[in-house]
Order: sequence, then structure tokens, then C-alpha cells
Amino acid sequence: MTLKAKQYKSDTKPIWCPGCGHYGILNAITKAFAAAEIAPESVAVMSGIGCSSRLPAYVNSYGFHGVHGRALPMATGLKLARPDLSVVAVGGDGDGLSIGGNHFLHACRRNVDMVYILMDNQVYGMTKGQASPTSPAHWERGKLTPHGSGLSPFQPCALALAAGAGFIARGYGGDPNGLARMIYDGINYSGFAFVHVLSQCITFVPEQTDWKDKVHILDQPTACDDAVEAARRIHADDGFGKGVFYISERPCAAEAVGADSHPVQAREPLMV
Ligand code: SF4
Ligand code: MG
Repeated sequence: MTLKAKQYKSDTKPIWCPGCGHYGILNAITKAFAAAEIAPESVAVMSGIGCSSRLPAYVNSYGFHGVHGRALPMATGLKLARPDLSVVAVGGDGDGLSIGGNHFLHACRRNVDMVYILMDNQVYGMTKGQASPTSPAHWERGKLTPHGSGLSPFQPCALALAAGAGFIARGYGGDPNGLARMIYDGINYSGFAFVHVLSQCITFVPEQTDWKDKVHILDQPTACDDAVEAARRIHADDGFGKGVFYISERPCAAEAVGADSHPVQAREPLMV
């Protein structure tokens, strides 16, 4: 079966702003699906609410655009009911870390076999520019926080590690090929794979166009399997390092309770 990335794009044209980072993530997802040779009818893309959560409509697969913060519980239920499907959950920083924050922690802990892509632009884009849980404390252009929120932003990869995720990576929307490799590796990982993606909101945080100059390869580009070392790497990074921080093998949820899990297909590394 030879599939091309464009076969995973639906006929629905994205309505994201020109220059939005989410286009690169959509490209990366379709490249990863094609490389993994998963038939479109064997994929389900699940989301909550927000600009990023429109993504399932743009993918030629099964999908569900749910309610705020609920991408992960829906994805969890779907994967447990249909272990034959490849399940990918997507959403933004507000959706995933504020409204859905508790679901994120427990999804990391439960280790159900899926990929979760956090499309982080450090702002609530769809509701027109409020500070989110990942906004810098002194970001002064938030509609409700003109003097900054004064709150320390979450570090999504550190949260994922503390909550027990076994695959933790960071990508960049402006590098769809590199991001496709991470998503592909996440698909191949047996368990909950967390991919944090820096994805610029050109409309409400235009200074994020600088990210193209700030993003860099991780100092240690080979993933480690030691949680203490992974924590050190995550905290030592400036928040713009891209690569896989941590891969640790532990039984995914189905295996942990002795149930059959969908066997992960061994695949060659993705070279794009
Ligand atoms: Fe993208 Fe921001 Fe426009 Fe939403 S408001 S589509 S996040 S650029
Ligand atoms: Mg956002």
C-alpha cells in the first residue's frame, strides 16, 4: 500500500489565518500518516474547541470535533472501544492545559496508546487573544491582561513527564518534515505519545514569527530513557529546543490490565 500525504487531506479548506502555524502541523500529520501507511479509514483524529481543534475537519479520516477540553477523554474512550484504530488527539494550549488540564494529566498517567499533539501558540486565538496557561507572565497584549497575567506559564513537557508520559517530544509548526518524524515515532510508540508543538498565532501574537530564529535542535538530540535525566534536559532547555526528550517503555493501558492491545507494527525510521 503506497499512500501520499495529500490523500489524507479532506476537501474542506482550512479557515486558519494566512501564516498560522497550524498549517504546518496539518502537513506534518498527513505526512506521518502516509509514511506509516495507515489507511485513512483506520485513523481517527479527535479534538476539543479552538482554532487548532478545527483540524479533524481538514483530515481525510474519521474524526470528532468535541467540546472544550475534552479531546483526550473522547480519544481514550474511542481507543479502548476500537483498539484497531490509530487515534490522534489534537488541540491548543487553552483547550489542553486549562479547560482540559486534568484530562491531560490523567491521559499521561493512563498511558492509552495514542498520540496527543498540543498545538501551542501561547494564546487563546479563537476567542481573540486572551492569555493562556502557556503565555509568558509579562505578555502585555492579552485582551484581559493588559499588564501581563503575572503568572508563570506551564511547561507542557515537564507536566507530561511528571504525570507519567513515556514519549515526550517538541516540534515546530515551521518544520513540518521534522514534526512528521516525531508524529510518526509517536504513532509507532506503544502508549501515550505527547508531542508539544510551537505553532505561531500570527494574528494575536505576531512577534512569534521570531520563533523561526529561536527554534533549535536539542542539545542532546538522542532521546533518553531516564526520567531524571529527561527532567534535567527539559528544564535546562530554553523552551525552543525541538526533538524527542524522552522515550520510556512501559505497558500501555491495555497491556497493564492483561487485555489484548492492538499490536504496534514495526516500521523503519522516517527519512523526510
Ligand atoms: Fe491561527 Fe491565531 Fe488565526 Fe487562530 S487566530 S487561525 S491560531 S493565526
Ligand atoms: Mg492557543
